[in-house]
Amino acid sequence: MKKKGIALHWQITIGLVLGIIAGVVANQLWTTATWAAVGVNDSAAYMAGTRHAPGTADPNAEAGVVAVTVKFASSLTDFVGKLFLRCLRFIAVPIVLFSLVVGVASLGDPRKLGRIGTKTLMWFILTTVAAAVIGLGLSNAVKPGGDAFVSPEKRVELLAAQAAGAQSRIAAGEKIRSEASVWQQLIDVVPANPFAALASGEMLQVVFLSVTLGLGLTMIPRGKSDVVVRVCDGVQDALILLVRALMTLAPYAVFALMAKTVAGLGLDVLGALLVYCLVVLAGLALVLTVMYPTFLWALTPRGNKVGFKRFFRALAPAQLLAISSSSSAATLPVTMECARDRLGVADEITSFVCPLGATVNMAGTALYQAVAATFVAQLYGIQLTLTDQASIVMLATLIAVGSPGVPGGSIVMMVIVLESIGVPPEGIAVLMAVDRVLDMGRTVVNISGDAAVAAVVAASEGKLLTEAEVRAAAAAVEAA
Ligand code: ASP
Repeated sequence: MKKKGIALHWQITIGLVLGIIAGVVANQLWTTATWAAVGVNDSAAYMAGTRHAPGTADPNAEAGVVAVTVKFASSLTDFVGKLFLRCLRFIAVPIVLFSLVVGVASLGDPRKLGRIGTKTLMWFILTTVAAAVIGLGLSNAVKPGGDAFVSPEKRVELLAAQAAGAQSRIAAGEKIRSEASVWQQLIDVVPANPFAALASGEMLQVVFLSVTLGLGLTMIPRGKSDVVVRVCDGVQDALILLVRALMTLAPYAVFALMAKTVAGLGLDVLGALLVYCLVVLAGLALVLTVMYPTFLWALTPRGNKVGFKRFFRALAPAQLLAISSSSSAATLPVTMECARDRLGVADEITSFVCPLGATVNMAGTALYQAVAATFVAQLYGIQLTLTDQASIVMLATLIAVGSPGVPGGSIVMMVIVLESIGVPPEGIAVLMAVDRVLDMGRTVVNISGDAAVAAVVAASEGKLLTEAEVRAAAAAVEAA
């Protein structure tokens, strides 16, 4: 994965920082007045390439070379970022399918699968609940929506802002709630037509299809199953190769994605909700830098411990990509690469734990849901009972399982949590204003959790390479 000279994760970091700088500059300096100075009086129409109505004067008739260059640079940035994400999504569904089939089938017998599956799910749930409790604790201690941080006028202003945009999310959330009783949600995990599930990229259904197919393969004679497993394995290797090639473009794509996102952020709203954002980010940082490293240190064997440095050095490319894409699903191919080739988790465990985790394991999302729900309750001046708090933890965990790994995947689900504790769902209007920044943080935690659980499960099965073995394997790949 290393280019000569600077290591890939440093290249991506440089792309990320330069992207943030470019985005802030564009956000602060490129205003309506700047557009007018370069001959553009209706920038939205200009950027969208909309023609003015016949018979009317063209407001952008005087757009000159500078305006054309800015438009080109902006479109190019947009194009690079979108193309990169599209290429990753292109790989995401097949990699879940093929690697889970290989993962499950190569675990051999259903008993081993049961053992590894149970361990994996147990760690997923425990870490997610722990993250939600951390979020709840921090939010109760700091009270970001309390009187100390939000004046009565600000309260009214915040709750009124973006109310229109909130309506569509509330409607979507209520639809999900009414359609999805727990029973129905369970039924929906089973695809009526597996090919339709693959075509529409319904990840939980794709996981179900892959696990059952893999399981079926372990139960038929080896002679027959071997062919299928070998084909899936070959396809998986080809996809991994594509990811490796694609990663050389990551620094540029990360620059483009960050510049675009930051340029479009309302930095003033961020100020108003600063304390709330800081509580969420502090909670996420705690999970990422204290909870996971402690968990890894405690559960990896002496002589092959995964410490803070080893964990972050291995996972940096995936984490940086998670920041810029805000999507666990899009980051999945890179998470798998990092877990296997940089952290040393055996292929069969990576292939099983990571695709499953990208779909169901979202500790960052659970923590976010807990802080956000209590914050909105505080804004409305609603006291939460102990039962309410317990139901926040439970719902946050369930929602983390059900949220898709896409940007803003869990915000719609917020409606369900708010209603269950008797808080007006309109409150999500406030949360939406700063969702993107927090989404970056929770996605990093989500994918890091997948790799951490993969490492712990691998260690418990004696399938975690040592650092020296990882280096030797990387050198062998480079030499090949
Ligand atoms: N964007 C998050 C992810 O992909 C999901 C969420 O919105 O919390 O992991």
